[in-house]
Amino acid sequence: MAKIVLENLAHAYGDNPQQESDYALKRINYVWNDGEACALLGPSGCGKTTLLNIISGLLEPSEGRVYFDDTDVTHVPTKDKNIAQVFQFPVVYDTMTVAQNLAFPLVNRGFDQAKIILRVEEILDLLDLRHMANMKAKGLTADQKQKISLGRGLVRQDVNAVLFDEPLTVIDPLMKWELRSQLRALQKKVGQTMIYVTHDQIEALTFADRIAVMLDGAILQFGTPKELFERPSHTFVGYFIGSPGMNFFPCEIKDSTATVVGQNIDLKDSYGAPIGKLELGIRPEFVSLHERAHQSDGLPVVVESVEHLGRNKIVRLLAGESKFSALLSERTQIPKDPVAQFDANRICIYQDSFILEGEAQP
Ligand code: ATP
Repeated sequence: MAKIVLENLAHAYGDNPQQESDYALKRINYVWNDGEACALLGPSGCGKTTLLNIISGLLEPSEGRVYFDDTDVTHVPTKDKNIAQVFQFPVVYDTMTVAQNLAFPLVNRGFDQAKIILRVEEILDLLDLRHMANMKAKGLTADQKQKISLGRGLVRQDVNAVLFDEPLTVIDPLMKWELRSQLRALQKKVGQTMIYVTHDQIEALTFADRIAVMLDGAILQFGTPKELFERPSHTFVGYFIGSPGMNFFPCEIKDSTATVVGQNIDLKDSYGAPIGKLELGIRPEFVSLHERAHQSDGLPVVVESVEHLGRNKIVRLLAGESKFSALLSERTQIPKDPVAQFDANRICIYQDSFILEGEAQP
């Protein structure tokens, strides 16, 4: 297993890139630790596959370097990079049995027969494939075949990294849930460096120790699920992570007071007098509703709709022209004439879309 280092990495598909928008991947400097499970998360076209293909060697970057530990592998082709890859669609040999498919990457590299049998047995158990070990791949369903592809990606223990490119796309929803958890458990067990590309936040959050959230060819934040949830460093991260995403309100700031829809809100930290586009961010989980008659503070709101989720409900609210959400327990009564309050410890302030650090008050 290896640590993966990206140094001033950038990529443009066209010749002679002149401006930022010519780059599918903007300048990136990051380190993936040895044995870490990471995810690249972002919407379609943000550059996830481009970055993965550079790491795997399918694509040579226009600028910058890739290191596996201390070795510069920027121009090393895929076949010499010693990595395993799992793609969106199954790569299996129909004429081989499930066990033969799993053994293939090991046979190919001349591993000892006894070791191959042992390792294939392990993977069959890990992925719950034992009952179909001797079946030909030809008759299997697409998601069974993809499970074999996952197994083939995981069977070699001597690789520098295992790269997954949207591996659960063809898997049916029920099995998706099961495989997500299995993959995570497996990663913890084998401790391989794994990079998992997805546009699905649930897949990223269940699988990864750290997640790189990407937009327009840039990594906006590289953090643990907790960090992305509690302190999104960019409004896009706040909006993209969470269900529903973070609420944002245009605001004015003076020291430790934010003014939102004409109401003053006390902040935990002090921000001076920042300029630019200022927004207050608060997750729906940290919005509470109170009866206006009992509460002098808070944002007067109109309840637009309620979505029942089982244990919780999403309450869609309107304050002035700002639409936002509160995530409340199903047991919580919605007041008749509500005001909304925000947990001061959970408020984040953004300046031109990036988080603004305040100063703790005495
Ligand atoms: P998706 O989730 O849809 O696969 P992605 O996040 O993986 O998207 P990329 O496929 O890396 O994004 O694409 C990043 C940008 O580079 C996009 O604007 C895309 O149109 C462009 N791009 C990708 N491949 C090529 C190519 N071979 N030639 C030119 N432009 C490309």
